[in-house]
Amino acid sequence: MSKFSKADFHVHSSFSLDSMTHMFEMCEAAIARGLTSVCFTEHVEFDPADFGYGFFDYDRYRAGIQEARARYGHILRIGMGAEVSFTSKKVDEIRDFLANHEFDFVLGSLHMIDELFIGGDEYFEGRTEEEVYAPYWAELAAMASSGLFKRIGHLDYLKQAHPPTWGPFSFEHWQDHIARALEAILASGATIEVNTSGIRKGLGEPFPSWEIIELYKALGGVSVTMGSDAHRPWHVAGYFDIVGARLEQMGLAVLGPETLSPGFDQ
Ligand SMILES: [Zn+2]
Ligand SMILES: [Zn+2]
Repeated sequence: MSKFSKADFHVHSSFSLDSMTHMFEMCEAAIARGLTSVCFTEHVEFDPADFGYGFFDYDRYRAGIQEARARYGHILRIGMGAEVSFTSKKVDEIRDFLANHEFDFVLGSLHMIDELFIGGDEYFEGRTEEEVYAPYWAELAAMASSGLFKRIGHLDYLKQAHPPTWGPFSFEHWQDHIARALEAILASGATIEVNTSGIRKGLGEPFPSWEIIELYKALGGVSVTMGSDAHRPWHVAGYFDIVGARLEQMGLAVLGPETLSPGFDQ
């Protein structure tokens, strides 16, 4: 495995409602794939409409991480991270939560808008393309300008539910909105995640798209983290070699295990 693919920064275990995989199985999968580091990013929800709301248990999670480190820590650097679902309605609550809980790495991600899951048909039904995407980019910019996150997860996640009848997603049409969100991300000192689950889900590219990654670079982005968004052991580090090679070709630095050093991400 190549040098840029040693750390998977987006892995869920059974501490997330939507994964049934034990943390140990994820660690073993990471070791088998030749990784030197894995960062768990369990879901933390703030929107009561989210089906995972209330599931996350910080103390149990921390105990689980300690057990995993005791077992695999000599060969695998294990990060205790979180994937926080941002909603602009709960900024103060999220800020309080992050101030009172310690993590090694925190991804800010969008999963819900108007109390609907944006990765599925329910958010798209009855809306025009304008009504789907404009609020999404606005919420993304709000997340960036909140300054809550140094890492922004799967930036164009909603494209997985883009209806085929609309034709391909038009990057040109939305470029200004996307640029504004990226500028807010960069102004807040954050970096984006390149999430390879887009390829796993058959979209042919990661989240975000290569066009958006190019724009990020053009606007001054220099580094990214890579994450597989694994929910099953066989997802770990999926497509890291091809995606990592392309990122390197573009001149973007792929952050490695040193990102999990204490204090690096604060
Ligand atoms: Zn997510
Ligand atoms: Zn995730």
